[in-house]
Formats: sequence, structure tokens, C-alpha cells
Amino acid sequence: MLPFFAEQFGNPMAVYRQGQRAFAVLANARRTMANGLNCAASELVFTSGGSEADNLALRGVLTASRALGKQHLITSNIEHKAILATAQQLQAEFGCTLTVLPASADGQISPSQLADAIRPDTALVSLAWGNNEIGSINPIRELAQVCHAHGVWFHSDAVQAASHLPIDLQDLGVDLLSLAAHKFYGPKGVGLLYVREGVPLLPSQTGGAQENNLRAGTHNLPLIVGMAKAFQILQEERTHWASHFQTLRDACIADLLGRLGTEQVVLTGHPIERLPNHASFALRGVDANELLMHLDLQGIAASSGSACNTGNPEPSAVLLALGYAREWAMGALRITVGRQTTLAEIHSAVQTIAQLVETQTLAGNSV
Ligand SMILES: *Cc1c(COP(=O)(O)O)cnc(C)c1O
Repeated sequence: MLPFFAEQFGNPMAVYRQGQRAFAVLANARRTMANGLNCAASELVFTSGGSEADNLALRGVLTASRALGKQHLITSNIEHKAILATAQQLQAEFGCTLTVLPASADGQISPSQLADAIRPDTALVSLAWGNNEIGSINPIRELAQVCHAHGVWFHSDAVQAASHLPIDLQDLGVDLLSLAAHKFYGPKGVGLLYVREGVPLLPSQTGGAQENNLRAGTHNLPLIVGMAKAFQILQEERTHWASHFQTLRDACIADLLGRLGTEQVVLTGHPIERLPNHASFALRGVDANELLMHLDLQGIAASSGSACNTGNPEPSAVLLALGYAREWAMGALRITVGRQTTLAEIHSAVQTIAQLVETQTLAGNSV
């Protein structure tokens, strides 16, 4: 990335040779991503990250479908806020109709449930591949098939899943798919939206002709180069890391459930069909924010709900949506493992969590 911050400063859209060189670098990064995803390079729109890709998918398809009289959007009640807040705004301010499907207790949407919700005026269905808070994985290929049987476009937020599951867009059959580089060890502030050839999409950000006229603005070349490099490394190492993660994740789940009884802790999300790096729990009567602060003092970096809600002393909206009582939903804990994480660290972290919960160090026991 470094040369493109300073020495090679050309704008890829400029005519002079520095620009042409930058354009070649941009095209190369796009080819790397397209090869890895198994799509055409022209089907990729570089964005500032996952939130922008999600926004562009929902706003872009819904506004483009207006001319066809299709204004109905379907999503689920446990989506990332980039989806849910956008869907709610489209409903409140832009005349769209919205169906929010209730996920199962394990955090999944079934193909038959989706089929029942599709209407003649449905334009788009958006369901995440892997859930960021509870790790559950949706049956994306089957959900895409249901959509296509009804002539409806299908978007999937794959920001979590892409880091861990192999992606072959032709095999998956989705029409739009969001990625963010920082979820696979790339830089923050860059991502992409895959838009299958033929999907109607109006740009949200208008201006220049960048990205096939779908996203105006001078390219952030250093970050795009960084994303492509991180993705190339991910392609080579994904399987290796996924099995490393899964060993640690399973140890984390078994250890914490073994130390605390079912009165105090439950695993949230799907027990098997979940992201390989992702363990999530609900702790009864615990204020998750307080727990996280105590863990940070011990050098343990954990999350509760979404990182986007940090500091918010509210129960997890995802756990409430799944039917958990408030005394459980206040204690959402999410432990994700990374490439540097060791088994010893997992056991020590779990021991610390169990001690904090058992000794009632947490004043939040009053919730
Ligand atoms: C992180 C995340 C996002 C948002 O991506 P940003 O790059 O932070 O905007 C969207 N969806 C899911 C599922 C995520 O995990």
C-alpha cells in the first residue's frame, strides 16, 4: 500500500502516464478480487467498506425497481445495522414496504419461510451469510434459489462469512454481495459490492464515472491495493486458518459452558452452523459493558453485541429479537479468535470470565 500513498500519486482516471500507471494497479486489484470471487471484474464496485456496500445494495436496487412498481424489501430481524437501519429508512422516508423476517432461535432464516414472504411487488431480499453477533450461517445458496424462482434479486451481507468460508459467486448464485477488507486482515475503510451483470442499480453517490458509473469519487488506491493483497493471502490461507480458529472456538465454548452452569450461561447462535472463529454467549444477570471493561483490564479484548453499539448500556437487540429475556440479553458476550490467538490464551480468558461472573464482581448483577 505504501507507494500509493506518496510516490505513485496518480489518479487512476487521469490521462497522463502517472494516471495510466495507477489505472493499471487498480485494474490489477480488481482482477485479483474477481478471480478470487469467481465473477467478472466489471461486476465489482469498490466502496468505503461494508456499510456503504450494504447501503448501495438496498438503496440502489429499491430505487431502480421503482419504475417497475416493485417497492417491497425483505430482510431479517438480526441483520447488521447497516442493513436494518437502511431498510427502516427506506420504509419511513422513501415509500418502500418492508418485511422483517423473524430468525429462528438458532439465528437462521429458512428457504420456506422466505418463499412465504415473497410478494409480486418484492424487489429485493437481503439476508446475511454469517451473523456478526451470534455467528449463525444462513443457507445462502438455497435462499438465492428461492428468490430466483420468484424473479426477485438477492443480496447477502458476506462481511463476516467471506473471511472464513470459500466464496464462489457462480456456485452461490447471489446477485449482490457485500465485503469489507478489515474483516479479513485488510485495511479499514475499504470494501466492495458485487453486482451481477443485469441487476438494476441506481448509484447513491453521483458525480464522476468511476466504478461503472455506480460510485462516483476518486479511488482510494492504497486501500484498494491493500484489500486485494489481503484477499489474495486469505485465498491461500483460509482453509488453514479456519481449522485453527475452529479448534480454539470449540475449546472456548466447551470450557465456558463447562465452568458455568446453564443457569448462568448459554451459547447463542447455531451450535454447528456458525462462523469458525466465533463464540457467543448470553450471561444471565451480567451487564456486558461492565464485563468487557473488567476483561480489558486483564488484557482481554472481547465484544458484546456489535462493535457499532459499544458504550450503549442496552440489551442486545439481536438477542431480544431471538426471544431472550432482558436479564440474558444484557449479558451478550462475543469472543472471536484470530490468527495470533493461542489455546492457552483461550483457557486463561475463559477462566477470567468465569471468575468475574461467579464472584459477582460485576455490579450489573442487579439488572
Ligand atoms: C463489520 C460489518 C459490517 C460493516 O462493515 P464496515 O466496513 O465496518 O462498514 C456490515 N455487516 C457485517 C455483517 C459486519 O460484520
